[in-house]
Amino acid sequence: MQELTHYVNGEKVAGTSGRFADVFNPATGEVQAKVPLASKDEIDAIIAKAAEAQPAWAATNPQRRARVMMRFADLINQNMDQLAELVSREHGKTLPDARGDVQRGLEVVEVCMGAPHMLKGEFMDSGGPGIDLYSMRQPLGVVAGITPFNFPAMIPLWKMAPALVSGNAMILKPSERCPSTSIMLAELLKEAGLPDGLLQVVNGDKEAVDAILDNETIQAVGFVGSTPIAQYIYGRAATNGKRAQCFGGAKNHMIIMPDADLDKAADALVGAGYGAAGERCMAISVAVPVGEETADKLIEKLVPRIEKLKVGPYTAGEDVDYGPVITAAAKARIEGLIDSGVEQGAKLVLDGRGFQMQGYENGFFVGPSLFDNVTPDMEIYKEEIFGPVLSTVRAKSYDEALNLIMKNQYGNGTSIYTADGDTARDFASKVNVGMVGINFPIPVPLSYFTFGGWKKSAFGDLNQYGPDAFRFYTKTKTVTARWFSGIKEGGEFAFKQMD
Ligand code: NAD
Repeated sequence: MQELTHYVNGEKVAGTSGRFADVFNPATGEVQAKVPLASKDEIDAIIAKAAEAQPAWAATNPQRRARVMMRFADLINQNMDQLAELVSREHGKTLPDARGDVQRGLEVVEVCMGAPHMLKGEFMDSGGPGIDLYSMRQPLGVVAGITPFNFPAMIPLWKMAPALVSGNAMILKPSERCPSTSIMLAELLKEAGLPDGLLQVVNGDKEAVDAILDNETIQAVGFVGSTPIAQYIYGRAATNGKRAQCFGGAKNHMIIMPDADLDKAADALVGAGYGAAGERCMAISVAVPVGEETADKLIEKLVPRIEKLKVGPYTAGEDVDYGPVITAAAKARIEGLIDSGVEQGAKLVLDGRGFQMQGYENGFFVGPSLFDNVTPDMEIYKEEIFGPVLSTVRAKSYDEALNLIMKNQYGNGTSIYTADGDTARDFASKVNVGMVGINFPIPVPLSYFTFGGWKKSAFGDLNQYGPDAFRFYTKTKTVTARWFSGIKEGGEFAFKQMD
């Protein structure tokens, strides 16, 4: 059995706690490796090493730090296939999806190549007689990133690249389900010229996370995962005086207006609802057709498309639409939620329960499910299912559809399909959700904008990547300076004569 490691001071290091977690191959259901779970003592020692390395890095000028990012981006490109394979092997997603996972992380590294521009301060030479004001952005010190299983490359890259280029050291705790990609990224960063100790990848569970949250050296915590854990981490980090941004779960709705191109809307819903087995925080999990006729036609168009989906292991070829879910427990939970939908009166149009993949009978596969006539009081509507299940909530009017989204506890992403510009504009302006798509199902902003939800999808006040990331990973210092040669005796202001 392969025993995985941490990555400390530029080397792979075995765990010493004696505690391990299983890393599954989700397609076969077999345990493929054991990952060490760090103890508090290991975490504290690793953080202390990062704190030793950080001051020299902070004193390295930002252009040099950015050049590490340039070489890192090159290395990610050169190793794209190996990284994607590693993602698929532990996560189970298809190879095209895994390459997308790496690519969307790489794009944030590319923005970090221009970091010096984002790290500049401001200057004012007319604050008063002989008075200059200027501000500078300084790194925080040692920061932490805690990431989920569903994007093993993208989200660690969203954390490490802006944090490091801003002059910090980072303790990255990836998901114990998919730990290997972060270690490979750390090795590539070393090859790109990152000095040892600045990116420490430590594997672990709650014990490791709590040790990070309680360690006084850690200045900021960037978390991505489920809402209950996001809320917990935000609270504990803030109580300990740390800066925190914690991104949580989602329930993303798509409104389909009667004037929408229904073929395009159905295609989009199938990709956004079932891609990556629905294990995306920006997956569309609720379709909201407006009007009975729109709803009937939409279901008619969805069914044959969903029935055509090819479910399988990533090794079965590039035409597989989606793979297994992450664990047996995730599969059981998803199937249990489908049971509850049936019990609570929703119409199960397509049933993905009990799906058996030939040759992979112990894999964590769930077939695609489609519900119609879902109502907001049902568990399948209230819970984030995080599986290949699309719920349809029929709305009588645009206002009813908008209100449904407004009242939902989550606010990560949303979308509207319509041919009417006024409706689309009204929706974008009014909806209380962080990322909005207009005839666009998964509106993940490009890397020079920022990513973040509203309501219970995010705790903290700055988004991930883009300009917000540089604000999050630096603190501002403002200097007010007076030079007396600019002031005449008696306090009267005069510029020095230049002749
Ligand atoms: P999770 O909350 O179970 O785990 C996330 C991280 O927290 C992992 O590193 C895990 O080890 C750690 N963790 C788990 N339980 C903990 C506890 N009790 N105390 C301290 N740390 C703990 O999430 P997951 O299942 O890995 O990921 C799926 C979730 O992430 C979904 O809810 C999804 O919507 C969300 N997500 C959100 C975004 C976003 O940007 N909003 C992006 C991707 C995923």
